[in-house]
Amino acid sequence: MSEGVLTAAYIGASVLFILSLSGLSNQETAQRGNWFGIIGMAVAILATVLSESVTGYGVLAVVIVVGGSIGFVLAKRVEMTEMPELVAVLHSFVGLAAVLVGISSFLGAETFNSVAEQVIHEVEIFLGVFIGGVTFTGSIIAFGKLRGSIASKPLMLPARHWLNLGIVIASVVLGVMFSNAEHDSALTYLITMTVLSFLLGMHLVMGIGGADMPVVVSMLNSYSGWAAAATGFMLSNDLLIVVGALVGSSGAILSYIMCRAMNRSFVSVILGGFGQGTSVSSTADDGPKETVSTTADEVAGMLADASEVVIVPGYGMAVAQAQNTVYDITRLLKDKGINVRFGIHPVAGRLPGHMNVLLAEAKVPYDIVLEMDEINEDLPETDVVLVIGANDIVNPGASEDPGSPIYGMPVLEVWKGKTAVVLKRSMATGYAGVDNPLFYKENTRMLFGDARDTMGDVLSALKK
Ligand code: NDP
Repeated sequence: MSEGVLTAAYIGASVLFILSLSGLSNQETAQRGNWFGIIGMAVAILATVLSESVTGYGVLAVVIVVGGSIGFVLAKRVEMTEMPELVAVLHSFVGLAAVLVGISSFLGAETFNSVAEQVIHEVEIFLGVFIGGVTFTGSIIAFGKLRGSIASKPLMLPARHWLNLGIVIASVVLGVMFSNAEHDSALTYLITMTVLSFLLGMHLVMGIGGADMPVVVSMLNSYSGWAAAATGFMLSNDLLIVVGALVGSSGAILSYIMCRAMNRSFVSVILGGFGQGTSVSSTADDGPKETVSTTADEVAGMLADASEVVIVPGYGMAVAQAQNTVYDITRLLKDKGINVRFGIHPVAGRLPGHMNVLLAEAKVPYDIVLEMDEINEDLPETDVVLVIGANDIVNPGASEDPGSPIYGMPVLEVWKGKTAVVLKRSMATGYAGVDNPLFYKENTRMLFGDARDTMGDVLSALKK
């Protein structure tokens, strides 16, 4: 394939990726966005494979078949609730790829037309390996925390910010030594910095608490994009630079949006020094704490008598896979003339858009699915708020209790509704490990059990 055709294919793929991102920004166009992305990636791979710089087709074919098959099987198997873990692991691959490409690019014999060109290449390698190293180990720790194999509690080493700063300064010093050294000692500096970047990635994410993990996942998404862009510079591949920049900046924008949703400062996220208070029990009310349980029949009665109902889904709805039953109830109530809408918190579930995907899967129409800000003002006029497997995102402590570890995080103010019915299996805390004063409010009713079973019972009672 000639250079001209390759460039044209790369431009075409870049346009498709941009269309893909814009499609993904809205539920109605998300499927189309995915197709643009798939076609763009197919064009990119085909054009690269057919380009003059690729010659080892045997090795390439084996690698593509093996890697593609593993990816296909794993992606098919993964549950919706495990999606963030998959995303985190995929980020770690991008990081590792950047490290390996950087080191092999340094080891490969390259000739340069000028000293400036050589220095630029060395900076690309050093930066690419550094960002890749941080992304690699950071993503593995994020994977472990999301999976629960590493405790979500933040690791609080003394002087940890100084430690991070020390690693960054040491890496800069090593970078200067790297660019001035002979080949062998330069390799030593590069490898030393790689080890330091691995430690930094680990330490940055270990220092972040459970409730802040969503921001970390999207920050790592951004880092993996910048690592890919750096790899693009090393390999002089324009498409990789464009794609890396798209992923890097969209990840950064998403992180910013999520920071706002969780009331975290963007800068403190980048520095990794935040999310200190998790796994703590805190309520403003120290008095006796009692909950009022209810039954499926009673809930069905409340729903049938209501005129305004809001459903707030959370992670537990995903675990229970209750979305289809929930939609059956919605349709039944709507047929009775009751206004039913869904209220979605930006970080409900375990990944951005988790709830929207589940509801779309159950074919819930988009026009009754509202964002937190849109629904909050209507909650005081709502007769019944059904909280299905949600906990942190409906915690009144976040707005009423300055002592709460999640104080300041915007939440769905479900307690302002006339009655809030909370569906969950036990009194266990949510992801942030914080007790929830909502359960003890006067107008709250607890319906204990697996959400799919209890929703099924409510549906049967409504049909009677
Ligand atoms: P939470 O984790 O706060 O609460 C989920 C609740 O669901 C639990 O209290 C649990 O209680 C209940 N539950 C679990 N399984 C079932 C079941 N089968 N049937 C009924 N209930 C069930 O989830 P939220 O969605 O409210 O909040 C999201 C949390 O996750 C936030 O802290 C957010 O920061 C964090 N997070 C979000 C990410 C994102 O990008 N969206 C990514 C990573 C973390 P019980 O065990 O008693 O049933």
